[in-house]
Amino acid sequence: MDKFIVSARKYRPQNFSTVVGQQHITTTLKNAIVNNQLAHAFLFCGPRGVGKTTCARILAKTINCEHKTKDGEACNVCNSCISFDNGTSLNIHELDAASNNSVDDIRTLVDQVRFAPQAGDYKVYIVDEVHMLSSAAFNAFLKTLEEPPPFAIFILATTEKHKIIPTILSRCQIFDFKRISTQDTVDHLQEICDKENIQAEPAALHMIAQKSEGCMRDSLSILDKIVSFTGGHITYTNTLEHLNILDEDYFFTLLDNMQKQQLSDALVLFDSIIQKGFEADTFLEGFAEFIRNLMVSKDPKSVALLDVADNFKARYLKLAQEVLTGWMVAALNILSDASVGYKQARNKKLFVELALIKLCYLQQAIEISQSGEVKKKITATHKAVQFKSLVPFKMKEPEAISKKETELPAARLMVQEEPAPSIVATSEVIHAESSKGGSTLKGIKEKIKQQRLHTQQKPIALNPEVLQNVWNEFTQKLSEAKNHSAASNFKSAQLTIDDEAHFNIICNSALQQKFIEKERPELIDFLQKSFNNNSLSYTCVLQELETDEEEEKTLTKKQQYQLLATQYPQIRLLKEKLKLDLE
Ligand SMILES: [Zn+2]
Repeated sequence: MDKFIVSARKYRPQNFSTVVGQQHITTTLKNAIVNNQLAHAFLFCGPRGVGKTTCARILAKTINCEHKTKDGEACNVCNSCISFDNGTSLNIHELDAASNNSVDDIRTLVDQVRFAPQAGDYKVYIVDEVHMLSSAAFNAFLKTLEEPPPFAIFILATTEKHKIIPTILSRCQIFDFKRISTQDTVDHLQEICDKENIQAEPAALHMIAQKSEGCMRDSLSILDKIVSFTGGHITYTNTLEHLNILDEDYFFTLLDNMQKQQLSDALVLFDSIIQKGFEADTFLEGFAEFIRNLMVSKDPKSVALLDVADNFKARYLKLAQEVLTGWMVAALNILSDASVGYKQARNKKLFVELALIKLCYLQQAIEISQSGEVKKKITATHKAVQFKSLVPFKMKEPEAISKKETELPAARLMVQEEPAPSIVATSEVIHAESSKGGSTLKGIKEKIKQQRLHTQQKPIALNPEVLQNVWNEFTQKLSEAKNHSAASNFKSAQLTIDDEAHFNIICNSALQQKFIEKERPELIDFLQKSFNNNSLSYTCVLQELETDEEEEKTLTKKQQYQLLATQYPQIRLLKEKLKLDLE
C-alpha cells in the first residue's frame, strides 16, 4: 500500500496555472517574472487556506528556476526546482510570525539577509501571519524592507491586512487573495476524485465545498476524512452524517408543515432532529439559511446568489414561487430573534419550539391581515374602556331656575352607581355587544327615554313639612341599616329651604357635616326621587357658634366626655363594655 499523503499536500499546486481561484494574482505574478519587474517585497492578504503560502512558494521556486517557461512558469525538472519541491532548497526561508514574533527573531532573519545565495538568483523570505509581529519587531524589520540587497525578496502573508502598519504597507506590493468560490472548489475536488478513482456524488462535493467556506485546505482535509470514513464512496447521505449537517429535506418538509399549519408535525420533526444529536441553534441557523435561499430564488435577478447543489436548485425555484415574500421576511425575523435570544434561553428546546409555533401560524396571520379581518378581531377582543355614565343635565323648566343652581352645579351631577355601561368607540363593538342587553347602547337609550318620561311628570316643590317627612324617612332608613352614628347626626340637623329645588342642611360641627356628606349619593338620590325632581340639590352648611368653641376649649376631660356621650351614645356603650375610666 502506498504511503498515505493528505490531499492538501499531494495536490498542492506546483505552478501558477494550477492554483485554484486566484487567476488575478497568478497572472500578474507571471507577467512580472516574464518582464523582470519583480518587487522586493510583497504582501499577500486574504482569508486562510486560499493559497497565499502556496503562491509564495511557487513564486520563490519560479524565480530561481534555471529554465523558466516563456509564460513565466517553473520547469519543475531543473535542480533548483527539484530542491524546492523536496524542501531542501537553501534559497527559501519561512518564518511563522505567529510563534516567532519577537525582535530577536526578526534580527536573526535580518542577519541572514546579508548573505548572497550560493546557488540560484534569489533568496526568498516568507513571513507568515505577519500581523502577529510585535511593534518593536516591525520596526526592526523596516530598515531591511526598505533597502534589501538585490538578491533578497520578502513575501509577507497575512489574514488581517488592517493590522499591518502603514509604513510596512507602503513598502510592499499588495495582492488581495479572494475566497475560493464554491464552484471552483467543487471542480477542484472533482478533479482530485477522478485522479484518485474516488466515486463522489456532486451534491456531496458541493456540501464539502460549502462547509469549507472558500478555504481550499479545509475542503481537501474534509475530503480526505470522508474518503477514509466511507472507503471511497462519497454519497450525499454519508457526507451529511460526517459533517453533521442537517439534510435540506428536513427544511423542505418543515416549510410544508408550516404552510399547512401542521404544528404537531413540525414539532415532531424538530424533535427527531434533536434526537439525531443536532444542536437546536444549528437547526435555527440551517433553517434561516434555507429561507434565505428560498428568498433569493424568488427573483430571477437574485437567483445567482443561490448557493446550493445543482440537484436542489429546481426544488428551490419551484417552492419559491409558492411562498409569499412577506412570509419569508417575517419568518427570517422570527428566526433571527430566536438566534439572538437562544443563548440566554434556559430551556433551549422550548425556546426553539416557540419560534416554530410562531412560524406555523405566520401564514394565517398574513392571510388575515391581507383580508382586513384582523382589524375586526382585534377590536372585538379588546374590551372598550369603561366609564361611569353621567346622567345628562336636564333642561329645567324656566320657573325652577334659580341663582343657587349656577353656584352649586356639583350637587346636580349625579353619579349613577348602577353597573357601568361601556362607552365604546367603534361601531363594530357596539354591534357585537348589542345582544347582551342591560349595559348596551340600546339599554342606555331605553333608560334615558324612561328617565325623560319620568321627569316629564311635574316635580314637587320643596316645602318644610314634606321635606322634614322625607328627611325623617331617610334617617329611619339609616337606623334600619344600623348606621346609628349617621342617623343621630341626621336627627340633629336643621333644614332651611332656599327655593323649590334647593335647601340647606345646617350642621353644628364639622363631624356632623362629615357624617351627612358621607351619605350624599344615597341622600340626593332619595330626595330627587321623593320630590320627582332631578335638579333638586342641597348644601351642607357648617354653623359654628363662637361661644360654643370658647366653651369647648375650657371644658374639662369629663365634660368633654359627657358632651360626646350625649352626641354619640355608642361612646358610652364602648366605655362601659371595655370598662374604661377617665383619667
Ligand atoms: Zn526549474
